[in-house]
Amino acid sequence: MFPTRLIDGYTAFLNERLPVEQTRFHDLAETGQHPEIMVIGCCDSRVSPEVIFDARPGELFVVRNIANIVPPYQPDAHAHGVSAALEFGVLALKVKHIVVLGHARCGGVQAFAQNAEPLTPSDFIGNWMKLMAPAAARTPRGGLPAGDYLTRLEHANVVNSLDNLMTFPRVAALLESGALVAHGAYFGVATGELSVLDRISGAFVPVAAEQHAKAFHAPRF
Ligand SMILES: [Zn+2]
Repeated sequence: MFPTRLIDGYTAFLNERLPVEQTRFHDLAETGQHPEIMVIGCCDSRVSPEVIFDARPGELFVVRNIANIVPPYQPDAHAHGVSAALEFGVLALKVKHIVVLGHARCGGVQAFAQNAEPLTPSDFIGNWMKLMAPAAARTPRGGLPAGDYLTRLEHANVVNSLDNLMTFPRVAALLESGALVAHGAYFGVATGELSVLDRISGAFVPVAAEQHAKAFHAPRF
């Protein structure tokens, strides 16, 4: 049976969102999608780009995978879902921005850090997470508390994905010409804080910090 939660959600959509967006849906159906922003995020159900960025239909071209990883360019006979989405977003839709969106408490990053046992016998996840190895290699554990180390690893994983974008020749050419801009971002699940990678300092810097402080600390009753 189709989940009741989804039927309820769809009913709410029909009552609330569709009347507001009806013209937009109609126009998008007629003229096709022209999103200017591609987001590469994690599958984590708490980190939905459309929710975080309050996106309307047609605004974001989103691909999500375990731990928001961009794999390196591998033009072989295997099926590469993320690379196909990247190719479509960049070459067909001609997006102007790519945002790699990492997040706090990422189960994929945590599993990698803890060398967790493979979750499945065929181990697609283990193989996928090996793509994080370069991020881990440049993130010394030192004497860091586990939570701090994971945050650093999550940040490094975003940077690693941005680096891997440059291994795709057509993407690299567009990035170098400035026709396409890549960004790293990080969402704090518990706090709702969004930070963006400053490429010069290498730090993730909170955006809209004042509004966040107001929203997060506002009395809830
Ligand atoms: Zn995650």
